Amino acid sequence: MKDHPETLYIHGKAQHTEFHGSLSFPIYQTSTFSFSTAEEGERRFAGEGQGYIYSRLGNPTVQALEERIAAAEGGEKGLAFASGMAATSAILTSLTKAGSHILCSNGIYGCTYGLLSLLKEKYNITHDFSDMREPQEIANRIQPNTSCIFIETPINPTMRIIDLKMIADLAHEHNLPVVVDNTFASPYLQRPLNLGCDVVVHSATKYLNGHGDVIGGVAVGKQSFMDEVGKTVRKDGGGTMAPFDAWLLLRGLKTLHVRMERHCYNAKQIVDQLKQHKRIREVFYPTDASHPDQSIAMKQMTEGGGVVTFTIKGSKKEAMSMMNHLNLVKIAVSLGDAETLIQHPATMTHSTIPPSEREKMGVNDSMVRLSVGLEAWEDVWKDLEQALNRL
Ligand SMILES: *Cc1c(COP(=O)(O)O)cnc(C)c1O
Repeated sequence: MKDHPETLYIHGKAQHTEFHGSLSFPIYQTSTFSFSTAEEGERRFAGEGQGYIYSRLGNPTVQALEERIAAAEGGEKGLAFASGMAATSAILTSLTKAGSHILCSNGIYGCTYGLLSLLKEKYNITHDFSDMREPQEIANRIQPNTSCIFIETPINPTMRIIDLKMIADLAHEHNLPVVVDNTFASPYLQRPLNLGCDVVVHSATKYLNGHGDVIGGVAVGKQSFMDEVGKTVRKDGGGTMAPFDAWLLLRGLKTLHVRMERHCYNAKQIVDQLKQHKRIREVFYPTDASHPDQSIAMKQMTEGGGVVTFTIKGSKKEAMSMMNHLNLVKIAVSLGDAETLIQHPATMTHSTIPPSEREKMGVNDSMVRLSVGLEAWEDVWKDLEQALNRL
């Protein structure tokens, strides 16, 4: 019988009986590995047998994390990167060449948008956006040079949901791989590979680590493809994760399920309170009855996640004033930390997107995004309520 995901977060697949029985995986804080003989060095460079060479190419602590995250996503092979963006750029550059085309979901992460602009400017790798709702509309946007479909769901900050199975089925009819940025859901709430998608990328900085003290990224996919990424773009591009960061992530991952349950529980309580408050206009939470994509969310996610977005009755001035009156809740971007964080998308995470584009994405000036933390939700609400009551 296969172990449950929660067990894999803690034990991985391997039974580590070595390392003197150390339950915490050792940190191999080394740049290079010595060979016992010159011939052994020759064999390692030829890729024969096990063994490490140099930590940019591979490191035992980093590899332990890669195996555990692959197990968590139900994929064949994982690779760890210095940041979520290093993971995304390695996967997208691996799947494209000069002149390719990428079809993306609307409202992707700001720096992913920046990466696409860079690829276009430098290598004529063009892109197109779709809201990824209507199969025919998506199919119409596929071009002869389209090399992959890249999606993010839930979409930041509107929490719109894309039907992963529908996209995977459609993409495969066109022989296209689907890459999913699974940062907002985490593998505990959503496993895109099980629904037919081909590659998952994460900003491990967020829920996977969960403690706000690492910048990191991971990607999981088929063995042959990921081996190729490891041997080319990651090795030569150089965005490898450091051993200490991998160790912090191994530690964070052990509590992913416990943290996610609490994030989701707290988020739902906050949603219920926000919906009753007279200064709130709209609340966006994937599994809430008021959400336009609730049925898709219920189908592919086990719960709605820890991010709640809402609009207040008022303008940018009132949104910022409310944020300035918070004490416990911290004004910060990022998400998935133990602390509840709040940010103003229009002037922070989405400020580089032109206002007209932002409007199309559903991002307006009275909108704030809350990453609900692990505190007692009553205390988080008390803080939000007093700030809202001052408006
Ligand atoms: C934070 C984030 C990223 C980028 O990750 P970094 O670790 O900051 O490089 C990518 N996608 C999403 C959805 C994110 O939230």
